[in-house]
Amino acid sequence: MYGPSLATVAAVRVVTAALFKRRLSARAAVLLLALGVASAAGCVGDPGPTPRRAYDDKPNVLLVSIDSLRADHLGFMGYERATSPVMDRLARSAVVFDNAHSSSSWTLPAHAALMTGLPDSAHGVSRGGRALPADAETLAEAFRVAGYRTMGFYSGPFLHPVYGFGRGFDEYVDCSSYGLGSADADPKRLHSASHRDVTGPIVKRELEARVASLGRGPWFVFVHLWDVHYDYIPPAPYDTMFDPDYTGSMTGVNFKRNRDFKPGMDEADRRHVLALYDGEIAWTDDTLGSIVRALLAEQGDLDNSIVVVTSDHGDEFLEHGGKGHRRTLYEEVLKIPLLLHWPAGLKSRRVSEAVGLVDLAPTLLDLAGLPPMASVLGSSLAGLARGGVQADRAVLAELNVAPHLLSAVVQGQSKLITRRHGRRPEYFDLRSDPGEQRPLPADTGGALSGRLRGLLDEAEQRALEPLLLSPSDVSPAMEEQLRQLGYID
Ligand SMILES: [Zn+2]
Repeated sequence: MYGPSLATVAAVRVVTAALFKRRLSARAAVLLLALGVASAAGCVGDPGPTPRRAYDDKPNVLLVSIDSLRADHLGFMGYERATSPVMDRLARSAVVFDNAHSSSSWTLPAHAALMTGLPDSAHGVSRGGRALPADAETLAEAFRVAGYRTMGFYSGPFLHPVYGFGRGFDEYVDCSSYGLGSADADPKRLHSASHRDVTGPIVKRELEARVASLGRGPWFVFVHLWDVHYDYIPPAPYDTMFDPDYTGSMTGVNFKRNRDFKPGMDEADRRHVLALYDGEIAWTDDTLGSIVRALLAEQGDLDNSIVVVTSDHGDEFLEHGGKGHRRTLYEEVLKIPLLLHWPAGLKSRRVSEAVGLVDLAPTLLDLAGLPPMASVLGSSLAGLARGGVQADRAVLAELNVAPHLLSAVVQGQSKLITRRHGRRPEYFDLRSDPGEQRPLPADTGGALSGRLRGLLDEAEQRALEPLLLSPSDVSPAMEEQLRQLGYID
């Protein structure tokens, strides 16, 4: 979501166009956007100021991104399996966004949107070889400028500092077990290393070693958890937790290249891989519990700390004929969990409005009482989190990996997907067709469909000239490694 409502689109368009042409400084753009957006951003029924906090201190902020985590495989999102007891417990006293979507369906652009508050067509980090724009402030930089101690823990290739994700962190800690950036690394070894890598215990260890140095805060800690990402190889007892009677030969190893996982395969085998994916979720949920305990529960700061749990995208298991991610923008890869746990500042509630990953950075700064980042286009969800209503919010998603050049927009339970080449746009009513199996003609939604189409046209126009483009510092050797890994084209 790059504007709080369709009513703000004109203001965003004017400011964005000016930024394209460098006629406007980023700070002036923020001011203009704030003015243009503020009137529309006020939520209908917004009950007013934040509830009084228990402490005068700034809240600590723990932001957890669980890679490849589908929203519909979590207990608090209605899943039938007990994959997420820790998240479910947090959700009971949190603000839960039931209609949250990523900005894309793969790691690099989604995390760029998370950290900059910019949609993919604006930050431009939509393929390998590009880094976060130098002119775009990051969330970690904003917290550090405000006096927060900042620490990041990452465990997957696309969170590497060469892409700019280390900016603003006092410490940015590599929690993978292999040397992605070393020039002499063997790409084939790296392929299996990254997909087979088991990083949860490393994140726990590295984080626990630094808890004392964080003190009481305020601090901003970002944790990227990788193990839910394929391959699906959870340790015991999670490997047999959800399909204990399976006797076949299917495994979760080498998932992306396993040619036996294909349309028409044995359903028991397909369900077994799903059970292994769920086992990874349950194991990672346990890791999350350890992290929250180490950082917050044992120090007694849980009430006045903002804990955010979200994801960068999901995974598909043949729902639309494919597997993995970075191929489509259907709900199985686009819909993400998003919960905000802050007992001292927010009452628990469920929010049904469409919200996006791009809105999270401005939300966290807003909740902490800090100024917005320069050049941000996402909008704060604080009003919604406090009980406001914004029924016309729209969320934009994009995929810019040839041949998959797609855009999507979600408003309420309506969704439009367009393809830049060839096929006609698809319109879905997610209420009657949550699995997106019955695409309707693009004009089915009438005026709504026309407005969604307008949003997509604007994004596609912007994608031609990203807002602030920076090449990454990826070395030729590392770029080749990433290509071998299948991470860039
Ligand atoms: Zn990812």
